[in-house]
Amino acid sequence: MPALRRPCAALLLSCLLLPLLAMAEQPANAPAGDALRATAETWQADVAAMTAAGDSAARRAVLRQRLDARALPSLETAFSNEDLHGRNLLATVSGAPGAPLLLIGAHLDKVDAGLGATDNASGSATVLELARRFQQRPLARHRVAVAFWDLEEKGLLGARAYVADGGEKPALYVNFDVFGWGDTLWMMVPDAAHPLRAASDAAARETGIALSAGDKYPPTDHLAFLKAGWPAVSYSLVGGDEIPLILQVFAQQTPERMPKVMRVIHSDADTLDEVDATAVSRGIDAVEAALRRWDATVPTP
Ligand SMILES: [Zn+2]
Repeated sequence: MPALRRPCAALLLSCLLLPLLAMAEQPANAPAGDALRATAETWQADVAAMTAAGDSAARRAVLRQRLDARALPSLETAFSNEDLHGRNLLATVSGAPGAPLLLIGAHLDKVDAGLGATDNASGSATVLELARRFQQRPLARHRVAVAFWDLEEKGLLGARAYVADGGEKPALYVNFDVFGWGDTLWMMVPDAAHPLRAASDAAARETGIALSAGDKYPPTDHLAFLKAGWPAVSYSLVGGDEIPLILQVFAQQTPERMPKVMRVIHSDADTLDEVDATAVSRGIDAVEAALRRWDATVPTP
């Protein structure tokens, strides 16, 4: 497609007016701008601290400091897999002792290349923000705990160790991997009838973002749970146009162009420059709303 040398009237219309119209059309119950900005700032600061930290131990120390700052009791559990040694970080967030467990998690480790901002400081910071929200306003029917897995990049080792080494089986495990930008909440849900799928659909609509839900999804920590027969879903936040291309890459096909995710992760481009904290704030609002709707579908004992 030829490059435009100067903006024509039509381009001005689409660049300047349409965004204004889109803003005016935001749903009446869209989150207030201040709350969205506050989440964006906190999230961005959490991602920045993790990317500045370096290795898994330093990234985990950042997360632990954030949990401590909110007086959320956390513990580290060590595991080994042949010559690899890792440490998961788990924290209790809220809920009555006997209530079923909602476990929310993300992997804290990164590959050697890049700073691991998108993969997966983005998911870790999202889990932190959800921990703060469910601490402040607990779910009515579930206990909430959070987990930050080590050595996902070496074969989901942290999540596998949790399942194998006597970790509590949750009523649901909700994973976050690559939650960095875009207009679409991408949900891996093996069972189309799972109530969290319908809840996510409704929550995305009321938040003003798109939902793409299905069972095709790149491998990540939810698989450790599903392989044990434990219920699990996973969320990403990406551009909706990227999803079919990402799936092509993981199906060993050649997409017509490389989606942003595949250009950024596992490369030197995985820096803070690529994430969009405002988009992520909307994504977090949608996930929180979805989990609250799902919680309300569970009958009280
Ligand atoms: Zn990842």
